[in-house]
Amino acid sequence: MKDGQVTILYIEDDPGSQRLVQRALQFAGYRVVLASRGIEGIDLALQERPDLILMDINLPDLSGREVTTHLRAAQGFQDVPIVALTAESHADEREKALVAGATGYLTKPIDIDKLAGQIAGFLGGMKERLAAEVAQQVSAQYSQELVKRLESKIRELEKINAELRRLDKIKDDFIQLTAHELRTPLTVIHGYTQLLHNSEALRQVLAESPEIASLVEGLMQSIERMSAVTNEILTISRFASGRIELSLGPVSLEEVVAVAVEDYAPACAERRLTVTVRPESWHLRLHADGELLYLSIANLLGNAIKYTPDGGAITITVEEQDEAVQLAIADTGIGIDAEEQARIFERFYTAGDTQLHSTSKTAFRGGGLGLGLAICKAVIEKHGGRIWVESAGRDEGKLPGSTFYITLPRNDPAGMKRRAPQTGAAP
Ligand code: ADP
Repeated sequence: MKDGQVTILYIEDDPGSQRLVQRALQFAGYRVVLASRGIEGIDLALQERPDLILMDINLPDLSGREVTTHLRAAQGFQDVPIVALTAESHADEREKALVAGATGYLTKPIDIDKLAGQIAGFLGGMKERLAAEVAQQVSAQYSQELVKRLESKIRELEKINAELRRLDKIKDDFIQLTAHELRTPLTVIHGYTQLLHNSEALRQVLAESPEIASLVEGLMQSIERMSAVTNEILTISRFASGRIELSLGPVSLEEVVAVAVEDYAPACAERRLTVTVRPESWHLRLHADGELLYLSIANLLGNAIKYTPDGGAITITVEEQDEAVQLAIADTGIGIDAEEQARIFERFYTAGDTQLHSTSKTAFRGGGLGLGLAICKAVIEKHGGRIWVESAGRDEGKLPGSTFYITLPRNDPAGMKRRAPQTGAAP
């Protein structure tokens, strides 16, 4: 009952019947809520807690009987009258409705003049009953029907699932092929621009014409960016198809972090961001793929830069644990909502308004395809490690910040505590 009015939930997929019944019941003083499908009906029932439910049997998803059986088992629905609307022509339909848990039934087409009176009767405690023998027989039939339907649904879903997997593979292959095809000409363009950049003739032109210099600069930056994006796509699609092998060797994690920090130093200086590594030095060697670890740590550092406004602070903390080493990259940026924290590690997932993204990789909220974290996750997990994020939520005013954690197994006991001379160098 809501505001003293008796609420009736009417679950019916035919709009004509919906209108007719709704009007008749409203005229009789009832509050009517409508659902057109079985699952929607269940959700609405749990939300609205109606005083009576009027249930069509033939619904497009779950049948009215199945909805009734579900609701009868739900808390607080044991005594709510559920009145089935059954077609006269179908044998056993009423009996099946009662076995499923209906309080009674009305036959279709509904006699609209009698409806309000019949509803009042059910609200007043009226109940239809079945002889025990009939109930037992129909109940067995109903159970068999349910099992058959369940089986056919599972078969249907398995088929759809297989088709989706096939389409997903076509999509992955297409992405990989496209990135691969793009990379070849890009490598050539990249090479030519390097040659141009180093050519004495061009250097003179650039020195004389700031306009041409800025055009060339824009061109070079775009080519760099395009190469980075194609490489990202290739890396993630290789992981997705399981075609990636780690190239393992001794790696100094300290060195990997130092190189990433150094690579981003110009961007940090431009954006007045400080990067602190704690402790200042540690000597830990891992048996890992140095290139891929660099890629992951650089991605995390790049993100910390992208999602922290100018003047912020980034802190990288390393903690040696018994079995693992933990790296935490904390920023004072915009933060990440709790619901997004797992999803951002999915491929092509970007949180927030991507339209606002700039195309620069280090500008505040600089754009990306949403692949960086998926790559980090794939790399870290392939190493037997874990990656996750902690953040108090996204707030571009208060800047709660985010901390990304990586743990990697300490798997090189011989090299532990010894300083490795160089990333990937031989012991
Ligand atoms: P992108 O290329 O969009 O940066 P990523 O996979 O690296 O893709 O990150 C996915 C999303 O996670 C980003 O679009 C961003 O919304 C969010 N994100 C990643 N790192 C941070 C961070 N340090 N602070 C706030 N949001 C972040």
